[in-house]
Amino acid sequence: MKMTKNCKHCRQLFEARRTNHVYCTASCKTKASYKRNDYKYVSGHYQKQKIKDETILKDESLEAVVENKSNNKTSINPSSISNAAIGAATSNAALYAAKKLFAPDTLSATKGDIKRLTEKLLGRYHLIKNLPKNSNSEFPYFDIEKQEVVYFK
Ligand SMILES: [Zn+2]
Repeated sequence: MKMTKNCKHCRQLFEARRTNHVYCTASCKTKASYKRNDYKYVSGHYQKQKIKDETILKDESLEAVVENKSNNKTSINPSSISNAAIGAATSNAALYAAKKLFAPDTLSATKGDIKRLTEKLLGRYHLIKNLPKNSNSEFPYFDIEKQEVVYFK
C-alpha cells in the first residue's frame, strides 16, 4: 500500500512503500539513527557528540591553565591576594617597624613601644612637621587623646 508521509528526519514528503517506513531515504534513516544516539554531523562524517564535547572541554580547560600560568608569570593580580595575606604582611611590617623604630640595635621592642607605635599607626599621635625635634632628638607628635604635644622617636 502506497502512502505519502513526511520523513521523520528531514520532514520532506515521500512516498512510503510500506506502512512502517518513516524515513524518505536510507540516508535519512541513518542520520536519524545517529541523531538518536547523540552523534553530530560534522563536515561529511559523523562524530559521537559526547566525545566532541569532551574534546572541547579538555581544550578549553587546557587553555585556561596556560592562561593562568602566563598570568602568574607576568603579573600578580592584586585581587587574587587574600585579605589574610595582606593582613599578615601588614602586621609583620608594623612589628618590624616598631622594633626598628624603638630599638634599632637589638631589634626588640617592649609592649609599651608596640602599643605606642600601634597608636601612632591608628592615628592617636600625629607627627607635627613644623616643629623641631626636642633636645633628645625626639619627634613632636600631637596626642589626639590628651590634646597635647608629646615627644618620642
Ligand atoms: Zn528524509
